[in-house]
Order: sequence, then structure tokens, then C-alpha cells
Amino acid sequence: MAVRAELLEKIRTVEPYVPGEQPQEQVVKLNTNENPYPPARGVKTALDSLDPADFRLYPDPASSVLVQALAENYGVGEDQIFVGVGSDDVLSLCFLTFFNSSKPVLFPDITYSFYKVWAELYRIPYVCPSLDSGFRIRREDYYRENGGIIFPNPNAPTAIYEELDFIEDILRHNRDSIVIVDEAYVDFAGRSAMELIGKYDNLIVTQTFSKSRSMAGMRIGYAVSNPDLIRCLNDVKYSFNSYTMSRAALICGAAAVKDQEYFENNIRKIVETREWFKEELAALGFEFTDSRANFLFVRHPAYDAGQLFEELKEARIYVRHWNDEKIRQYLRITVGTKGEMEKLLDFLREKAGK
Ligand SMILES: *Cc1c(COP(=O)(O)O)cnc(C)c1O
Repeated sequence: MAVRAELLEKIRTVEPYVPGEQPQEQVVKLNTNENPYPPARGVKTALDSLDPADFRLYPDPASSVLVQALAENYGVGEDQIFVGVGSDDVLSLCFLTFFNSSKPVLFPDITYSFYKVWAELYRIPYVCPSLDSGFRIRREDYYRENGGIIFPNPNAPTAIYEELDFIEDILRHNRDSIVIVDEAYVDFAGRSAMELIGKYDNLIVTQTFSKSRSMAGMRIGYAVSNPDLIRCLNDVKYSFNSYTMSRAALICGAAAVKDQEYFENNIRKIVETREWFKEELAALGFEFTDSRANFLFVRHPAYDAGQLFEELKEARIYVRHWNDEKIRQYLRITVGTKGEMEKLLDFLREKAGK
């Protein structure tokens, strides 16, 4: 039954974000940038310590155990951390809180496609400057008047990382706007912009447990900034839903943060696999950006990316492909275990007759 026009005009209708597929059968899953390794061992211990009898009580609305663990880990105050149900939750609250002007928010034309969805959802005006021909963000495009700025670093799906002087340049040119740096992949890349928080009162950095901490299924993300902006974010959160983080997420998240050695090892393995995989792909004639994330953004001059995507899917190897004009000939491939990447390479070698 179609919704009548009289009703439709009173409804907030949106075109939603389309997440990567979560197939239920066994596949080589390289399509949503999950981590192929399990979370730190302490997470299991934390889960085992949960008593379902406690589930009758609401969790701590301030998420203190997790906020404390993160504050200690990054050497910042507890009043400088905000946690949410994945960074998608944190970022959407950031749009609602910080992008509240009639001037357009700026983000790249090729980037995390959720930004556009939130802007539409909250009716925030936006402008999307084009990346350059090498898929890099042009800093000069962010010198114009705006209602806020957001971009991922490394950017997605291009995987390109910009050094901190680039971030600082954008911050300096935008003293009167909030600048959000979405660092979903920074642990695989280099220095975090978090070290600039004391210097720029307009900076917010967001990160997630979904990629580098192997906990996409637990839904934990966070923002780090100065206490004033974190307070603004909390005020909006408490006007929305006080109890966003489950008891399980709080203690599992805290346990994961405390195991720094496991974390570093996990990152090292993925970066090693990524660099080895780059060489193997290059030998097969693939071209790709200088990936500093846990995924590669690749094309092959002799293959149609859409067709290759379908062939891979047929072979039960899932990667990501978008039909956007500018990136139609590219695939985004998550870095999995070496064994998973070998399966993909075997397929590609056979296709190439090698
Ligand atoms: C994965 C991702 C996120 C969100 O991840 P959550 O699972 O919601 O924490 C945010 N931004 C970018 C660029 C991402 O790739």
C-alpha cells in the first residue's frame, strides 16, 4: 500500500546509507573492513564476568569504565572523551550538535557516504568539493566560509592518509568552524590528530573499536576533544537516549583498551599483510592508491571493476564496489588474513592465466 501524499508531506523521508553485505554463508569476506583477528583476550574474560542478573539494571549512563580506560590510554581528561554505539552513532550526534548553522558543511565528494545521509536527515546544507585527479583532498577547497568540516583520515574508500600539517592547515583556516577528523583507520596509518586538541579548540577527533580493535559487532566508537565540546555532545546525547552503551560493551571495550601489546601486534600483522598484498597485486597489473588503511582501493586497466566484483562474488569472495561515476572502475578490498588474501590472489592469477 502506497503512503498517501497527504501523509507523506508530514513524514521525514530519507535515502538511507547502504552498508556492505553481511552474507550468512561461508565466504571470504573482504567487503566491510572488519578485522580478521579476534579481539584481545581480556574481552572474553570480561564477558565471562557478566552476570545476567545485573541486566535488570540500566547501565552507567556516563559509561565511566570505558571513558576512564580511554582517557588513561590517550593521556587526556575523562571530560575529553565521549563514547557511543559505534562511531556512526558518535558522528551522527556530532552532525546534530556541531553542524547547526545555515552555512554549508564541507566534506569531499568521494568519502564515507554516511556523511551525506546525516546531512540530508538533519537538513544540514552541504557542499562536496572534488578530490584531485589522484583522489587526494585539496586543502584550498576548505578555505571558504562554511558551517563545519568533516573528513576521514585516512579517507575512505581512497585509503589515502594526510600528515598532520595538512590537518593543522585546515584547522588554522577555519578557526570559527568545528572540524571533525574521522580517524576510523588511523591506527593503520600514522599519527593521530588527537595531539592537536590542546592547540585548536575547534577540533574533534573520532575513532572506533570496529576496525583496529576487532570489535565491529560490539558497536563502540568515541570522540576526543576539549571539555567544552564534549559537554555539548553529552547534552545532546542526554536529550536523545541516556543509556546508549550496554553493560557488555562498556566492560569489553575497557578490557580491549587495556591490552596495548595485543593491539600493536594486531595492527602490525595487518600492515604487513597489506604491504605484501600490494606487491602481489602490482605483479598482476593492478593499480592502487598508497593505502595506509586496512583496505586497498584498486583498479585494473584490463578489467571492468563491476564485472570483476560479480565474478569474485560468484567465487564466494566478497569485496566492495560502488556505481558512482568517478570510482566505478575501482574495488575496495579489505585486508584480511594472509590465507584469505591468498584465496583472492589465486582467483586473480587464474583469471590472468598466470
Ligand atoms: C567504519 C567507519 C566508521 C564507523 O564505524 P563504526 O563501526 O560505526 O564505529 C566511520 N567512519 C568511517 C570512515 C568508517 O570507515
